Amino acid sequence: MKYELVAGFETHVELTTNTKIFCSCTTQFGGEPNTHCCPVCIGLPGTLPKLNRKVVEYAIRAGLATHCEIAEISKMDRKNYCYPDLPKAYQISQYDKPLCEHGYVQLSNGRRIRILRIHIEEDAGKLVHRRGDTLVDYNRGGVPLIEIVTEPDFRSVDEAKEYVEKLQLIMRYIGVSDCRMQEGSMRCDVNISVRPQGSEQLGTRTEIKNMNSITFIAKAMEYEYSRQVDLIESGEKVVQETLRYDDATNTTSSMRGKEDANDYRYFRDPDLVTIHVPRERVEEIRASLPELPEEKKQRYMEELGLPESDALLLTKYRRIAEYFEEAAEGTNNPKTAANFIIGQIFRSVETETEKEAFDVAVSAAQLRELIGLLDSGKIRMNLAKATLDKMLETGKGALELIDEKDMGGLDEGALQALCRQAIEANPKAVADYQAGKEKAVKAMVGYVMKNSRGKADAAQAEQTIIGLIKNA
Ligand SMILES: [Zn+2]
Repeated sequence: MKYELVAGFETHVELTTNTKIFCSCTTQFGGEPNTHCCPVCIGLPGTLPKLNRKVVEYAIRAGLATHCEIAEISKMDRKNYCYPDLPKAYQISQYDKPLCEHGYVQLSNGRRIRILRIHIEEDAGKLVHRRGDTLVDYNRGGVPLIEIVTEPDFRSVDEAKEYVEKLQLIMRYIGVSDCRMQEGSMRCDVNISVRPQGSEQLGTRTEIKNMNSITFIAKAMEYEYSRQVDLIESGEKVVQETLRYDDATNTTSSMRGKEDANDYRYFRDPDLVTIHVPRERVEEIRASLPELPEEKKQRYMEELGLPESDALLLTKYRRIAEYFEEAAEGTNNPKTAANFIIGQIFRSVETETEKEAFDVAVSAAQLRELIGLLDSGKIRMNLAKATLDKMLETGKGALELIDEKDMGGLDEGALQALCRQAIEANPKAVADYQAGKEKAVKAMVGYVMKNSRGKADAAQAEQTIIGLIKNA
């Protein structure tokens, strides 16, 4: 029998507000343990939380960027559970009135992953296990989070990977999170079940908790899918439970039986007021959103005529898109800017962090100047490419690196003369060409390019050589 995978995601995203959700402590990552804390975020009795306005605003940005409806009235609830990383013994979250609902993220195969809700909540502290002891660090306690919950709409691991990447990109574009999975500022829980292909009924699901790498998410999902299929095939039952993924062994293991909402005894937090979101404010926030990666990609393809692969590469990081737009602005051919960036400048950025910052030796203005020289016919493509390599090495501008006498290309007479020389120097290529091998002309074009130090136009040289051979 064939089986189908069914999965849903719960993604926690840490917001990059300067201060925590209910106090004015810093949200900075790291720091000496327990130094980013105050009586509010370690939950001392008698302290009162006050909701950070920025958190609501960031969450609304995230909601609008994922096509959600924004609730006019929303509230905070207490989710009660006892664990050492949560000194109050409850987490302030949102239960039945989340801030955002009913959105979606569109995948490249045309399917929409529906977003059930996005709510705001506080992060818990962190447990550090060391030599048999467990230490607690409350620096992360009270850092604002949004939790993005999808419907069980995923049907493959590839869809899941694309969704996580897309979500990461959107959140970075709108500036609400850095989504650094390795630092835990984006973490995913995945619900998985399997069912016979064609069945409409959902199977029993398990939940894999707290994964912070796209590779692990993919591996864990693949493992869990096969485990569940094996159980069903051998006549056993999938047990609803919470699992942990172990990347060392590439297996999942049970953490605890699945709890349901009743176990948390949710109730409204009496210390916090109702959140009112005026419609005008929502529209203001909507108007302040930047062009999103998907829209940008479409525009690059439709208005600038870039192929999809280029548009995808240029919109994958916000800084790269900004750089490209600045370099291409006012030039005749955005494709040239795209080619220079993808073909040559990308070589100088390797890591994810480098791509994110895109702090390269050649500024966008310098690249625009180089393209200007090309556009105005002062230099040819070969010279432009060589110059860009030198610019990347030295950080100098094109005009500093190109010799005055190399500008202006070749005049008609000089090109003719060089083409004649090329024909004389390559009798075999001429014979081959005359025998019908059209490619043989390339050798002579190469000769012209080399001897003109890249100043000749390759297409023009080819036409001239062909003309000369035919008229000989
Ligand atoms: Zn605090």
